[in-house]
Amino acid sequence: AIARSGIRSLLPEKLSLLSGPGCPVCVTGAEEIDKILELAMEPGLTIASYGDMLRVPGSVPGDSLQRRRALGAKVEVVYSAMDALELAAAEPEREVLFLAVGFETTAPGTAAAVLEARERGIRNFSVFSLLKSVEPALRSLIAREDFNIQGFICPGHVASIIGEQGFHFIPEEYGLPGVIAGFEPEEILLAICRLTGQLARGEARLENCYKRAVRPEGNPLARAVMDSCFQLRRDSWRGLGEIENSGFKLREEFADFDGERKFPVEVELRSDCAVCCCGDVICGRIRPEDCPMFGEGCTPEDPLGPCMVSSEGACAAEYKYRGL
Ligand code: SF4
Repeated sequence: AIARSGIRSLLPEKLSLLSGPGCPVCVTGAEEIDKILELAMEPGLTIASYGDMLRVPGSVPGDSLQRRRALGAKVEVVYSAMDALELAAAEPEREVLFLAVGFETTAPGTAAAVLEARERGIRNFSVFSLLKSVEPALRSLIAREDFNIQGFICPGHVASIIGEQGFHFIPEEYGLPGVIAGFEPEEILLAICRLTGQLARGEARLENCYKRAVRPEGNPLARAVMDSCFQLRRDSWRGLGEIENSGFKLREEFADFDGERKFPVEVELRSDCAVCCCGDVICGRIRPEDCPMFGEGCTPEDPLGPCMVSSEGACAAEYKYRGL
């Protein structure tokens, strides 16, 4: 929304807006992508995925679900976990593995699909959870030695689930201002105005500028559904590394729907693409155009890293709206 609306061109030079670890596809590590690519070739298995995931390369440049589909893998694009469940119901002779990507925004919907699968006795549906929690990632980012950010625009969609309460730790524990914002240009401008106002006055508070969607307590029903299915585990983030209690895994009682247990797969540990700086972009250490491959070896048509694939990716947005 920031790139599309050209907001950066309106800002004074000393004010920079950096993308954080807010694109779920981008923060998924290459090893997890490699596992999915391996699973995609299993006979009798259908991979159900959000469209963004199809072109994300694993640790081998050019290898992706899209390429695996061309090689014969059955990969279906879905818009929700419920769509994937219906796919499983319609094809009982095949196993359907849903790639659950996202934060607290998509975790409740995934949990609801698992609960419904259990209720309807649909046993050929399972979930490969890549779901992550926002708070531990922000804490990890702030704890970094090179952390140099003066305030946070907090994501309105995540806040609609976890509430204002989910972001209070930013001013209370770290003394940094935070403003919950929506996604319209005027909402982002308002958030910037409030953040800079706090900085000018030497304040650090959490403000909610997205009250039409975000309540102080968030959405307790969505959180209850999410908590009934998922528990937190140590998880790996691109750019941030391993973070304690930062990923969602299915609880023991839902083991039958846990794709990682149902289809265990080992992959050779390889490092991320050597020339891609997505990890630095995700942590706000560099802007996309600072990457030497930006627009040269790496474009949305031929991406080297996930930040150039996803519509939420910082590199893709910067490339698409260059000059605004
Ligand atoms: Fe990675 Fe491409 Fe972005 Fe560079 S421009 S950080 S290679 S996705």
